[in-house]
Amino acid sequence: MDETAFPAGAYCHAVDRIIAAGRRMDRFGWVPATAGNISIRLPDGTLAITRSGGHKGLLGVDGVIRVDATGRPCTPGDRPSAETLLHCQIYAHDATAGAVLHGHSVASTVLSMAGGDALALEGYEVQKVFAGQDTHAARVHVPIFDNDQDIARLSHVVAPHLAGMCAGYIIRGHGVYVWGADMDVALARLEGLEFLLACELERRKAR
Ligand SMILES: [Zn+2]
Repeated sequence: MDETAFPAGAYCHAVDRIIAAGRRMDRFGWVPATAGNISIRLPDGTLAITRSGGHKGLLGVDGVIRVDATGRPCTPGDRPSAETLLHCQIYAHDATAGAVLHGHSVASTVLSMAGGDALALEGYEVQKVFAGQDTHAARVHVPIFDNDQDIARLSHVVAPHLAGMCAGYIIRGHGVYVWGADMDVALARLEGLEFLLACELERRKAR
């Protein structure tokens, strides 16, 4: 690993934050089995990201690898997740993005499988965690895209919608993608979005 391109310890700090984020997501049940992936953008533009496979609640230092801005491993032989491309797409789109989180929650899976191309969330105090949402009276629009094992094709479907997103997006029957300027912001947004989705699920069950 070459750490000469950015301050010493930056990679190790990113790995620590990714391991902690994995544990937190696991506590909520958002990364079952080997689901999910987590990344941080490093000062030189490369990414620290979870390796393909492995439980995100049980990550060790070896569970995180470094890839370039296009998703190619910096160390030959390292195997990134196929979904690394979706992280790269978010960082390329948003120069302020510093961390990306992807999980497979029950609420995002069930709600997205109910149909529709988006969820409209309004009336919730928690939605103020998202950028540009100053009041519960505003509406949070969360796009839903059909799942696709061809991640490059999926990224092309997502691309035109990225500019209008304030809370991230959902892949149908699969899970959410959320990002923020740093890991703390990304985690707050993920927690906020998952709270809203859980509330929506409960309300629909009550109908
Ligand atoms: Zn996934």
